[in-house]
Parts: sequence; structure tokens; C-alpha cells
Amino acid sequence: MVYMRLLLLVTLTVSITPAAELCIRNEAGLDAQTLMLTMHHIRGHQELLGVDMAQGCSASSIRLTFRTVPQAPHPQDALGATRVTAGRVQPEILIFAKSILQMLQGASAECKARALAKVVAHELSHYLRQTKEHGDGLDRRQFDAEFLTSF
Ligand SMILES: [Zn+2]
Repeated sequence: MVYMRLLLLVTLTVSITPAAELCIRNEAGLDAQTLMLTMHHIRGHQELLGVDMAQGCSASSIRLTFRTVPQAPHPQDALGATRVTAGRVQPEILIFAKSILQMLQGASAECKARALAKVVAHELSHYLRQTKEHGDGLDRRQFDAEFLTSF
């Protein structure tokens, strides 16, 4: 008699990557293509940031507002800012789109979107890591045109 033994190995893969919802306000008047490409490039940073990014507005969304240029109390050379209240980095991000795009004269829409997304990812990193500190890569303190448009 031959006994056949069938071993069924069932692997349940459960995605545990937390999700972040971005509620986008376009006060800078960015065109639809630039916004769409920017969202695409923001998603390109989600592995590094450790969250899956989606677009939408609810009570738990991260508010992402594209403004033109910084106004007080933000320094004039700021490209983005994240609100800090009572020692907590809040889910409120400002991106100074005109300031960023002024550094990229003549750049393609693709390049501009990549640059905007880098600044968004930098600010998201402050919020997700709950730190005001800076480091390397996307967490560097200052972005120049070369870094903004690099891959
Ligand atoms: Zn920063």
C-alpha cells in the first residue's frame, strides 16, 4: 500500500504597510498634468517613507497644500513647511510651488513634478518620522536645482 501524503503549505500574505491619504489643495494653480505627475512621483517615494499613498480627503488625511511663495513666519527661501504644534509634527504640509519651479526654468513638466514630489516627500518624512531633524538624501536640509531634478 502506498500512502501519499500531500502537504499543503498555505502562506497568507497580509499587507501591513500603513496607508496615508493626501488631501491636496492647489492654491498655487498648478495645472492638472503637473498635479497628476506630482502624485505619481510622490508614490515613487512611498517605499522609502514606509507608507502606501492615496489621494483623498477625510478626517485622517494629511493636508497637502500647494501655495505660491512662502510668507511669514516661513523663511523666504523655504520650499516647503510642515506645521509643528506642541512638539508634534502635524499632518499639515505646505509646498511653495512657485519658489520650487523658479529654480527649474525651462524644465519639462516631468522634471517639475519630480521636484515638487521630492519636497512633498521631505515634508512627509518629517511628519511620518515625527522629527524636525534633518539628515541625508530626501531628509537633507537644503535642496538645490540639481538635487531637485535628479532621479
Ligand atoms: Zn525639513
